[in-house]
Amino acid sequence: MDSKLEVYIEGLNEAQRAPTLHKDGALIVIAGAGSGKTRVLTMRIAYLMSQGIDAFNILSLTFTNKAAREMKKRIAGIVGNSEAKNLWMGTFHSIFAKILRFEADKLGFPSNFTIYDTQDSQRLISAIIKEMQLDKDIYKYKQVQNRISSFKNSLITVRAYFNDPDLVEADAMAKRPRMGEIYKEYVDRCFKAGAMDFDDLLLRTNELLNRFPEVLAKYQNRFQYILVDEYQDTNHSQYLIVKALSDRFQNICVVGDDSQSIYAFRGANINNILNFQKDYDNVAMYRLEQNYRSSKNIVEAANSVIEKNKTRLDKTVWTANEDGGQIIVHRSPTDGEEGRYVASSIFENRMNHQLMNGDFAILYRTNAQSRAMEDALRKRDIPYRIYGGLSFYQRKEIKDVLGYLRLIINPKDEEALKRVINYPARGIGGTTVDKLVVAAKHYGRSIFEVMEKIEQLGASMNINRGTQTRLSNFVTMIKSFQILNDGGNAFEVAETVTKKTGLVQELKKDGTPEGIARIENIEELLNGMRDFVEEQKQLADTTGSLAEFLEDVALATDMDNDKGDEDRVALMTIHLAKGLEFPFVYIVGMEEDLFPSAMSMNTRSELEEERRLFYVALTRAEKQAYLTYTESRYRWGKLVDAEPSRFIEEIDDKYLDYQTPMQSYRYKPLMDTDIFGDVDKSKLRLKKPVSGRPPSVGTPTGDQLRKLRKIKPTDTSDVPISSVVGALKRGTIVEHIRFGRGIVEGLEGKGQDQKAEINFENGGLKKLLLRFAKLKII
Ligand code: ATP
Ligand code: MG
Repeated sequence: MDSKLEVYIEGLNEAQRAPTLHKDGALIVIAGAGSGKTRVLTMRIAYLMSQGIDAFNILSLTFTNKAAREMKKRIAGIVGNSEAKNLWMGTFHSIFAKILRFEADKLGFPSNFTIYDTQDSQRLISAIIKEMQLDKDIYKYKQVQNRISSFKNSLITVRAYFNDPDLVEADAMAKRPRMGEIYKEYVDRCFKAGAMDFDDLLLRTNELLNRFPEVLAKYQNRFQYILVDEYQDTNHSQYLIVKALSDRFQNICVVGDDSQSIYAFRGANINNILNFQKDYDNVAMYRLEQNYRSSKNIVEAANSVIEKNKTRLDKTVWTANEDGGQIIVHRSPTDGEEGRYVASSIFENRMNHQLMNGDFAILYRTNAQSRAMEDALRKRDIPYRIYGGLSFYQRKEIKDVLGYLRLIINPKDEEALKRVINYPARGIGGTTVDKLVVAAKHYGRSIFEVMEKIEQLGASMNINRGTQTRLSNFVTMIKSFQILNDGGNAFEVAETVTKKTGLVQELKKDGTPEGIARIENIEELLNGMRDFVEEQKQLADTTGSLAEFLEDVALATDMDNDKGDEDRVALMTIHLAKGLEFPFVYIVGMEEDLFPSAMSMNTRSELEEERRLFYVALTRAEKQAYLTYTESRYRWGKLVDAEPSRFIEEIDDKYLDYQTPMQSYRYKPLMDTDIFGDVDKSKLRLKKPVSGRPPSVGTPTGDQLRKLRKIKPTDTSDVPISSVVGALKRGTIVEHIRFGRGIVEGLEGKGQDQKAEINFENGGLKKLLLRFAKLKII
């Protein structure tokens, strides 16, 4: 064994060494948080390579691409970069997208197929609902999308759907009898557009492995060793893929923690981990018990909470780390105060312990809670980064550029085409696009193919000469970009696109600060492409083509965009924090109905999932954890009383340090700056107690509130936002990235200048210019 590797392996404890050095056969490592599961997986890969296993024969599946990159770098440090380059590592989606590209023709897809993101899928579903003239209040596009997604994750194809009377009847009962037709049309349209959505990447992989035994055999032989991190959160579709691929050699190693299974609401199946021993022969089962991450107080407090769950595997987790401070529990009168407390506390801790901003994380149950935290951090000049908000690649100007780039690679891509065909404006109106959609359906072709023949078809489609010319010009432009792409590199192509299409000029004309910010974002995209080409050459041995770049973007999670070169406090939902660790962790909004969420307390299993989520949150902390809650909080635009979360009570008191809101935090840091004599004294004044704060103007009526409450909050972390100009009316329910849900109370102005007055759950009444407002319709 290489001496470097030896040193690393010696650094493992005995329990970790056993699964690391286990050679062949199936093995499972079940262990609590922070016990080194991910580390074992990493070292095991390095060990296998040292034993002569070719990197090409190892497949490793992780929760984010960033985690995969980090593992790869660590392994490269041990075995050398040229070897590590050849490892197959990434998320399920990115790995199987790659495989599908090789094999696409077998399934009738082009190898340059587009990957539709959530927003593309939603737009297409909305369009279909409209074309079928269905009531969009009954056929809500998001619910339809969720349903289609759950079909796909359970491997229910369109044919299987229609053959299953129970499914058909369930939709009829839900007053959506035409669900199956929408599903069929959606699948057909994606197929014609040469596009796969996220769920397709798994569904089609299953189809590929099932229908083509020779393909299955090829990948079984290729991936002789398969390793999966966070196995507890795999869904059925992912489970079947792993099962099929590992069937021949059965060299499968999975690691996970049933106590950290938090994605049941997206179809994750905890039974995958519980049944692992039945799925393979001679399964070796390993347990790790020593936690290296957290202080004793945190480990024991987390243990005391998770023990309350009935469905769980018995596990011991202990640590040799110091006791550490007790977990601080802090009550504030309102969420504004809670934000100020957290910001002040971070400020003080950073000074007192000489820490970086990046040593702190603020975790919350729902995205809407970030606003109060952001306001407070901004006031204290503490740099922060929100994860899971609107990701960079979802921004309008970026999606516009990507729309053109996608068309270059796959001109059949319907959603990209619809997005850019008339942006910047080139006189191709909505009616023309509708006609193109109808014709495409009639001829069984893509819209682009119809456009290529517009001179012959135009008259029969009632499209006049002038418009025909504009359509042909568009086709010619895209084709000229394609020619450029054949010889050029991705960065150059993109730069030309932003200039030749008039995208940048359009934003320059705008002249507003927002317009300038958008231009800067486009520049940032171009810089990113340049970096991508470089990184790709170094880490993956490919050229970094435009197609590769687009694939990377389509599958990037928000976490993946983090270059980690800026020192910022991290803000994210607990779901996103899985697998990560921070010295100081603030878990905010520890209140009944918020955490545990009001929507997840109907059954024991839902409540247990909330408890697991709390376990995940608490175990992210290395040195110090804070639990904060408020006495009252703005929800649905109204101040409501809040009760502390039951999860606080579930922790034994000896691990907790209860603080009161009257601690000196409000003065201390500000007083520090007083020595310069430039403090605004008015800022030092204590605010009046807030319990008597009047409700904001225009509080929603009882009826409106009931309407709001009926809606199940969704995890908004990856839901993209579309422009809502022209789409709102009084009473429409929307969601804002910071202010949460709200009801439209009034509208003024038209087109690009339209404003809406909206009563928000977390911000009260606000007037927003819709063009810039990050709103989505619920
Ligand atoms: P989670 O359940 O949260 O995903 P995990 O079980 O994957 O956690 P790791 O992230 O692998 O745990 O390890 C937790 C921390 O402990 C990491 O910082 C890791 O570097 C450290 N660690 C793990 N094993 C050892 C060891 N033997 N010696 C020193 N540090 C270790
Ligand atoms: Mg881990």
